[in-house]
Amino acid sequence: MTTRARTAAVIGGGVAGPVTAAALVKAGIEATVYESYPGRPEGVGGTLALAANGKRALEIIGADEGIAAIGDPVSAQNLTIGKRHRFTVPQLGDVGPMWTLHRADLHRVLHERAEAMGVKFVFGKHLEAIRDDGDGATAVFGDGTEAGADVIVGADGVHSAVRRLVGAANPGPKYTGMISFEAVSEHEVPVGPEVMTFAFGKRAYYLYWRLPQGGTRWGVNLPFVDPLPAKALRETSDEDWMARLLKIYADDDPGAELLRRTPAERLLCHGPLWIMPSVPVWHRGRTVLVGDSVHAPSNSSGQGASLAIESGIELARCLRDLPVPEAFAAYERLRRPRVESIAANAAKINRAKAPGAFAQAVMPLMMPLMFKTAMDPEKTLGPIQRHRIDWDAPAAAGV
Ligand SMILES: Cc1cc2nc3c(=O)[nH]c(=O)nc-3n(C[C@H](O)[C@H](O)[C@H](O)COP(=O)(O)OP(=O)(O)OC[C@H]3O[C@@H](n4cnc5c(N)ncnc54)[C@H](O)[C@@H]3O)c2cc1C
Repeated sequence: MTTRARTAAVIGGGVAGPVTAAALVKAGIEATVYESYPGRPEGVGGTLALAANGKRALEIIGADEGIAAIGDPVSAQNLTIGKRHRFTVPQLGDVGPMWTLHRADLHRVLHERAEAMGVKFVFGKHLEAIRDDGDGATAVFGDGTEAGADVIVGADGVHSAVRRLVGAANPGPKYTGMISFEAVSEHEVPVGPEVMTFAFGKRAYYLYWRLPQGGTRWGVNLPFVDPLPAKALRETSDEDWMARLLKIYADDDPGAELLRRTPAERLLCHGPLWIMPSVPVWHRGRTVLVGDSVHAPSNSSGQGASLAIESGIELARCLRDLPVPEAFAAYERLRRPRVESIAANAAKINRAKAPGAFAQAVMPLMMPLMFKTAMDPEKTLGPIQRHRIDWDAPAAAGV
């Protein structure tokens, strides 16, 4: 009976998939990524912010320099309330910037790095079932083909099929009540190019930052009662969405001007935003979950991709040093407290992003005090952004 994994089938080629596969190869385990899409997604998706801890974790697979080549650094953050109040959000000065990237560029960098390390990618493979035979498992795809490996890693995102196969009672994702949009406006906001601004407008929240090449990128999460199905999203025209958004941000500065100077055809609708409630079963037999399939925090955490990267690398370290069942248990023990505490904090931030009239009125008074006292960045951001994975330390089987 094989207890140490020598081969892995990684399901999903988004962020967690290529990173996990690259780290597995570094750990001496052969890895193949199976992705539903017919090819590497080119030019799709919007912008993603990679936090300092995520970029640091990518050093372990040598992908961090690729990030600096495709990203723009964000070294300061502002928070504004209405038209009059602007605050500088306290940051850790020495962890390095956050990086804004096009999702498609991130995929390219991660895929190319993984391939260079020896990972194989197979596209057009949609996982539907898993057979576990005790000392290995077989992934069964929609086209009738199969792939066997010592372990299967479910890196198949927030709508994961693997999650239910690992635990029938595992929950599905929860709708956040928001639909997400972004675009580039021709309006240039009068702030430095490395500054991201989080703005509490009169009716809703938005964020924006100036682009080094000109223009301002903005993003909004539009409150929407039900998650619109893909068909309804497709059938709503860009002009209709822009008209709605213009009404919501009509009284905001610079929100109104940013939207007015955005051609409708530039609008990118990301659709409903989802988060994962706590997942009771992270692994079963020869199959384990990683990334959004098991821990998708609200995107206001700015940590989804970074946590997916960290988890993939920690999983590989555990599989390098321990037999499969102990490796999966050690991996869950290492990761669950961290990802669940970050998700819980992000949920609190979400509530703060939808303040009522009273909260809006007292926020300008409270914020400076909060930044001085409760929001000591070392306490709030330190544990998240200073996190460092010690790849060379042997993973320990625990109690
Ligand atoms: C609008 C939006 C903005 C965001 N902004 C940020 C941000 O600024 N910063 C940040 O850190 N995070 C952000 N996130 C979250 C971040 O995108 C995710 O945390 C990250 O992509 C998780 O990576 P993953 O590999 O686990 O999942 P994904 O990136 O979703 O990848 C999953 C992959 O699995 C494939 N797949 C799915 N099902 C199957 C199947 N059955 N068989 C085979 N393949 C399958 C999919 O096609 C996909 O390629 C944002 C998310 C959204 C929606």
